[in-house]
Amino acid sequence: MGKNDIGWNLENSYAELPGLFYTPLKLETVSDPKLVILNQLLAKEMGLNPEALMSQAGIDILAGKALPANAKPIAQAYAGHQFGYFTMLGDGRAMLIGEQITPAGERFDIQLKGSGKTPYSRSGDGRAALGPMLREYVISEAMHYLGIPTSRSLAVVTTGDPVYRENPLKGAILTRVAASHLRVGTFEYASQWGTTTDVKALADYAIKRHFPLIQSEQNVYLGLLDQVIKAQAELIAKWQLVGFIHGVMNTDNVTISGETIDYGPCAFIDHYDPETVFSSIDQQGRYAYRNQPNIGLWNLARFAETLIPLIDDNQEQAVKIVEASLRKFVSLYHAAWLQGMRLKLGIISEEPDDERLIAELLGLMKQYKVDYTNTFVDLTLDQTQSSELYQSDAFKDWLNRWKARLERPEQTNQDIKSLMKQANPVVIPRNHQVEKVLQAANDHGDLKPVEQLVAVLQAPYDYADLNKEYMTPPEPSNYPYKTYCGT
Ligand code: AMP
Ligand code: MG
Repeated sequence: MGKNDIGWNLENSYAELPGLFYTPLKLETVSDPKLVILNQLLAKEMGLNPEALMSQAGIDILAGKALPANAKPIAQAYAGHQFGYFTMLGDGRAMLIGEQITPAGERFDIQLKGSGKTPYSRSGDGRAALGPMLREYVISEAMHYLGIPTSRSLAVVTTGDPVYRENPLKGAILTRVAASHLRVGTFEYASQWGTTTDVKALADYAIKRHFPLIQSEQNVYLGLLDQVIKAQAELIAKWQLVGFIHGVMNTDNVTISGETIDYGPCAFIDHYDPETVFSSIDQQGRYAYRNQPNIGLWNLARFAETLIPLIDDNQEQAVKIVEASLRKFVSLYHAAWLQGMRLKLGIISEEPDDERLIAELLGLMKQYKVDYTNTFVDLTLDQTQSSELYQSDAFKDWLNRWKARLERPEQTNQDIKSLMKQANPVVIPRNHQVEKVLQAANDHGDLKPVEQLVAVLQAPYDYADLNKEYMTPPEPSNYPYKTYCGT
């Protein structure tokens, strides 16, 4: 690879689907592209040369001003249920330039978010602002290092062009890397506006790309449904375990791959309250923390509906089959969540009373409004002395029962501690800190705080070097915290 060779190795398998699935795009003008942040580690994983990406030729590509060899810019078509209502959507401000084949032979979508208008923009301007694109960069990277499947962020560039929201803001583009951008909404689109042949083409493509091992199954489309149900059940369990609220679990934001995608008004809970809702537009609390598993199931039912014609020629029979699969979601989710919670408490074996022990702890955490993340860190480090919760008789009683539960011959104290350290993050992207670093970047062009935060978030389970600054919850005055769309 020469010094200026970026290392692009693009293919365009999605664009081989029938034409209704996408629209080819032309590049928009970009006045003055400048690099804000580049994910060097991810670049290398992708087989890209970070130095060359930082050159003007590299930045022009990240800004959608120039194209690498074999790029075929398109906007993907999809529909979706937004807050329960079905509508046509599509990439209104994003452009898929191709799929990078990595040195390890993996395939990743390379998408520019904020790259300008597309035929699916409706009344939107197709643009994105610096703050929200940096926010997606920070939170998606944090999720990755927490061990949660997610789209990744390769870079953010500013375009030199203003975007107009309530105030003029700096226009920016995020380069998003994802296993794919196939969504439940892509299937809904095919089912609503395409033929059964189109749905089949999409399903075959999704199977080949994400679940090649099921290709030999007798009913591959049922296999696809089961795989997506499993991936989403496990994903949402992981969200719950770290206290992540997606904020807009519309079906267009639910991937077939099982990755977290479309970071809008998402945020992590501080004090434990299952009713928590951060998004300013979610006034009914549809996407509240505690509702996420149920909404996950609702979204999967919309996916299942699209597959009915492929699953059995007899519609009634097909409905019965998919209903049986959907019923498995609850137990899959619950098993993943319970297993995760056991690990958070250092419990290796399974006993029937574990669930009650967990529920009692969560009940106390809610009652005393304590920080979700830090309570588990305190339990991990045996620092349960100095707070109203820890002083309470109810907690002391719980602690004794938990300690008794840990006394089993098959696990040593060391096992317990090491399990807990792997399951309880010390740092998460706390809302007040994310806001602070975005403000420094946006208002003062100061990128040091963002870079520092991202570096800390790359080692969320590092107990060797505790960083108190990033572990501190917000002052109560920061509540109620609100996140906004247009993000
Ligand atoms: P999201 O909330 O990011 O999942 O977006 C929902 C839909 O709105 C998608 O079809 C987006 O492409 C579209 N959208 C969001 N922001 C804009 C924008 N500024 N211009 C055009 N379309 C947008
Ligand atoms: Mg979306």
